[in-house]
Amino acid sequence: MSLPFDRVFLGDIVTTSEILRNGWIAVRGETIAGIGQGAPPPAAEIIDHTGRMILPGLVDGHMHTSSAIGWAGIEGASRSAAAGGVTTCVDMPYDVPKAVTSAEILAEKITWVERLAHVDFALYGTITKTGGVDAIAGLAAAGISSFKVSTYEYDAVRFPRIDHPTMVAAFREVAKTGLPVAVHNEDQELVERLTAEAKAAGNTSAIWHCRTRPPLAETMADLEIFEIGLETGAHVHIAHSSLARGFDIAEIFRKMGGKATGEACIQYLCMTEDDIVRLGGRGKCNPPFRTAAEVERMWEALLADKVSNVSTDHAPWPADRKGSPDIFANGAGLTGMQTFAPLMYTLLDERGLSPTIMATYCAERPAKLHGLYPKKGAIRLGADADLLVLECADYSFDEATIVDRPEMRWSPYHGRRMRARVAATVLRGQTIWDGTNVLATPGTGQFVRRS
Ligand SMILES: [Zn+2]
Repeated sequence: MSLPFDRVFLGDIVTTSEILRNGWIAVRGETIAGIGQGAPPPAAEIIDHTGRMILPGLVDGHMHTSSAIGWAGIEGASRSAAAGGVTTCVDMPYDVPKAVTSAEILAEKITWVERLAHVDFALYGTITKTGGVDAIAGLAAAGISSFKVSTYEYDAVRFPRIDHPTMVAAFREVAKTGLPVAVHNEDQELVERLTAEAKAAGNTSAIWHCRTRPPLAETMADLEIFEIGLETGAHVHIAHSSLARGFDIAEIFRKMGGKATGEACIQYLCMTEDDIVRLGGRGKCNPPFRTAAEVERMWEALLADKVSNVSTDHAPWPADRKGSPDIFANGAGLTGMQTFAPLMYTLLDERGLSPTIMATYCAERPAKLHGLYPKKGAIRLGADADLLVLECADYSFDEATIVDRPEMRWSPYHGRRMRARVAATVLRGQTIWDGTNVLATPGTGQFVRRS
């Protein structure tokens, strides 16, 4: 006798609006085929997470799997994603040795995803410093989810600053595709001058990372990208705002008719300047951590619905790139995917807020931003059966539990008290993390096109 469903998951279902106690999610094949409460329907297999929360698998809208060691980094980073409840990575294009600047390079990266990924991947595309505008239409047609460009140059080839006339031309082309363009928002001239002055004065301790990238460096960049967006009709998205003011500026441009949005990263909802002093190189990311008062303003912006989504900006530099006493000699970027779900739950719970906010900002909203919804980002009929099972707990996060390759096993959240752990992660109906082990193998993950 054939049963109507392959598998039924039991638990408290957390949607963007409510928590369905004693709920069930029925799966047929790879998709959600039934949702309810109370007695579950017959199925070939019952997976009992009673007493635990079942959220949509997280969609991390911003990370860099391949900026340290190239596309080989997809394997370990996606293993860490599986352990952190992230079922879809939207991976940035600034890869070594080559950034995703053409449909051909995109096709090459997709073969690496399909060979190495443990979770599903959507991909950003970008443009070369000069002459890259012509590739925009082809990248969009080839299925990227979004574009990314920068106002600040980390590397002339891999992560270039796009000058103003090129950005105007690029945004005009991007507007025709309907895709969003996320922008790294820091003012080059301001940061370069302040950094040169700090170095000349011998100021190379950790706090000088914050002092050389003041709030004005961000907000000046926010203004110019939104002005160009307003002029060209492109949807311009701040890739990461560490400042509530960034969201206020986006709102002003929306009121003027612009398609302007901004994203928060989880570190800007909890880390402060004191943390980079404590962590040194391991607390270095761009934009930098701000003040405790700014963290409070970030939460006010989030709760006032000014923030599009919350991501990690996971950038797993090997630990030996994060240990210099000269803050300027360290790589910029944090690890964060494996702590994403436990930390987001903890931050919400510490403020008396509901995990429904995580379902909104860390699953549904990023899926919508990147054109992956309703296949991704929600517990709803017909969606991929991507689930995050959270269990209340009380423990200190230990970076030694990170399942990325050994040199990436460090975390700025090492020792942080957590109130939940990821008891299971489910990708398209299959359990890929059981709370202890990653059950997915390289190649379990698939490329997901923007729909
Ligand atoms: Zn980033």
